[in-house]
Amino acid sequence: MRENHQIANVDFVKQMNSAVVYKLIDQQGPISRIQISELSQLAPASVTKITRNLLARGLIKEVEQQESTGGRRATSIVAERKAFRAVLIRLGRKHVTFAIMDLSAKLLQKEVLDLPNYQRADEIERFLFEHLAVFIQTNQKRKSEFIAIGITVPGFVESKTNRIQYLPHLTLEEPWDLANKIAERFNLATFIGHDVRSLALAEHYFGVTKDCYDSLLLRIHRGVGAGIVINHEVFLGYKNNVGELGHIQVDPLGKRCLCGNVGCLETVVSNSAIEDKMQKLLEDGYTSKWLSLESHDIEAICKASNKQDAVATELIEHVGVQIGRVLAMSVNMFNPEKIVISGEITQAKNVLFAAIRRTLENHALPTFVKTTPLVASELQNEDVIGAFALIKRGLLDGSLLQRLLTE
Ligand SMILES: [Zn+2]
Repeated sequence: MRENHQIANVDFVKQMNSAVVYKLIDQQGPISRIQISELSQLAPASVTKITRNLLARGLIKEVEQQESTGGRRATSIVAERKAFRAVLIRLGRKHVTFAIMDLSAKLLQKEVLDLPNYQRADEIERFLFEHLAVFIQTNQKRKSEFIAIGITVPGFVESKTNRIQYLPHLTLEEPWDLANKIAERFNLATFIGHDVRSLALAEHYFGVTKDCYDSLLLRIHRGVGAGIVINHEVFLGYKNNVGELGHIQVDPLGKRCLCGNVGCLETVVSNSAIEDKMQKLLEDGYTSKWLSLESHDIEAICKASNKQDAVATELIEHVGVQIGRVLAMSVNMFNPEKIVISGEITQAKNVLFAAIRRTLENHALPTFVKTTPLVASELQNEDVIGAFALIKRGLLDGSLLQRLLTE
């Protein structure tokens, strides 16, 4: 039996209390100490002590509020967002993206580097270290401190050890301890996660699922992945990874998928699958006023479908039905409050969402699906916002906060 001991030692209680106070200031600021005390149910003396520490570290600041009724100015507190910055990394199959955001999630800097065709993790590691050192060095600012590094990868990460277990494009002989090595080398707290799971978290912090306890995000890009948020947390499970909706079979006689099986959702609805299918249709003599053999990328296909182009509309509807079938299974299992679709394909939202909705209604439990909105993601900077969300989580759950307060 695997037991899950939770030991409430003094340091842990301190960390939790600081986190509760910081979270209230972050989400509800400007807020007074009295309000914090009331909402957190912490004693006023504890709130005073915690806010003193947070003020001393510069993580929060005092602002003067309007005259209160008694004529005295009340002092409220807000989170400091400009004085701290986060370094964000997206390690893709062919590119590495480095970016910087301040704590308001404002993108301050971004660079995309081509990744040489390395076959081994240690080669990529050396490349990353070298370029990251330059990136951090050139972006140092006297008045703004780097507080953490966030990394997302298109693979599986063991959440307890932060090691990468699996990447689709690279054979790992053993779990890759990239994040811990980066943390050590750059002396910054480093958080790592699966790209789509992290995006679902970002959607929950900054996007359209902010108001939900439970939500499901389906990301359609080069591949197809999903992130499930349950009770405000990304659902990962003991085995660290849940939500591979892209590898549910929708076509038993379909194409071979990267995972080795055939006819996975990904082989039908990923951007390249849609583009390939359109290419085939055009080659077979289907005609379109808006598309040609030279110009039929995903954006052009979406635009054409928005103009009621017959072949584009037909294809997007087919894609919507396949997505809807897989989402219907997920709705029956998780019954999310909201389903979010992220990716270029949402540009064909009118046609796509109608097809998904229709299929959902035919395949999922009506009482579940009736009240579940289907929405398009509106997040900016999808490539790096997930990495930022991992850092934000560290602030809100207290783990990063505690490190900042004690260093
Ligand atoms: Zn597959």
